[in-house]
Amino acid sequence: MLIVMTVGATREQVDRVTAQIEALGLKAHPIPGAQRVAIGITGNRSIVEPGLFESLPGVLEVIPVSHPYKLVSREAKPEDSVISVGGVEVGGGRFAVMAGPCSVETPEQTLTIARAARAAGAHILRGGAYKPRTSPYAFQGLGREGLAILRQVGREVGMPIVSEALDEESLEAVVESCDMIQIGARNMQNYSLLRTCGKAGKPVLLKRGLAATIEELLMAAEYVLSEGNYEVVLCERGIRTFTEHTRNTVDLAAVVAVQRLSHLPIIVDPSHGTGKRHKVLPMARAAAAVGADGLMIEVHHDPSRALSDGAQAVVPEELAQLMQQLPVILPLVGRHLTAQQRPTA
Ligand code: PEP
Ligand code: MN
Repeated sequence: MLIVMTVGATREQVDRVTAQIEALGLKAHPIPGAQRVAIGITGNRSIVEPGLFESLPGVLEVIPVSHPYKLVSREAKPEDSVISVGGVEVGGGRFAVMAGPCSVETPEQTLTIARAARAAGAHILRGGAYKPRTSPYAFQGLGREGLAILRQVGREVGMPIVSEALDEESLEAVVESCDMIQIGARNMQNYSLLRTCGKAGKPVLLKRGLAATIEELLMAAEYVLSEGNYEVVLCERGIRTFTEHTRNTVDLAAVVAVQRLSHLPIIVDPSHGTGKRHKVLPMARAAAAVGADGLMIEVHHDPSRALSDGAQAVVPEELAQLMQQLPVILPLVGRHLTAQQRPTA
């Protein structure tokens, strides 16, 4: 259930509704919007009686939420959420490009790629330190050492950093070092990890599961928001289908579907989505044209030697080409490249 406050509702009136919700043993989530505040209620196992709130001062209406998710829904917040990742804004028309290697391999490799990504105009540096690999014998990432490299390089080039957490232990390390926590496709329905992310105090990049529906993706995000973390960016990274010409099938209609249902930004990862270098730029351009809020692109200066996902890594020149093309496409869908972080040094 959602309680929509009037445009002129005062802070005291919002507090009174919140107190009423808490008195029932439930959790209140005030969601400030451009026009008015909506207050989501979670924790109820049955229908909450609307009459308990309808007559309180400042309450405009009490609406039952028709979806199984509440806080991520457009009903809770009609306008787009803008998420700040270390000062770089994503959503609400601001298009952000997250770029970097699949895995952090060495300080030199990470710095070379990061410098090129920053010079090309990318906004956020990605790099895996804890890698979810299909084979237990494949390179598993550098762990804490990888995060330290990513952090150092991010500072040096002036880019916020995002890296994947696989479990509670790596989550703690990622929260300490990174500006954004990535939850990978394989963990999209790891509900205890999602709940912990909800208390982590850092924005979360939540990737769609390999066979997850839109509703399942939004429910996963709801886990994070329900614990009090409203800073979630969704990511369409391709789903498993029968085709063999790509690693996965990039479901661009998912972007349109999500934007109708939710206020959260959604970006597209055409690297894992296609698995093939020559398909990454075309699908990235298509994602921009469909109205996505950003991209995640794997980049490597020497893909044939990459320790993971070399076949889908674009080279820095290709990233630079894409960054030149995006400003042509984005205005057609009411978007623009977001601002890069200001250099600190
Ligand atoms: C990644 O981004 O490196 C990754 C492993 O992605 P996904 O979880 O989408 O497979
Ligand atoms: Mn990868």
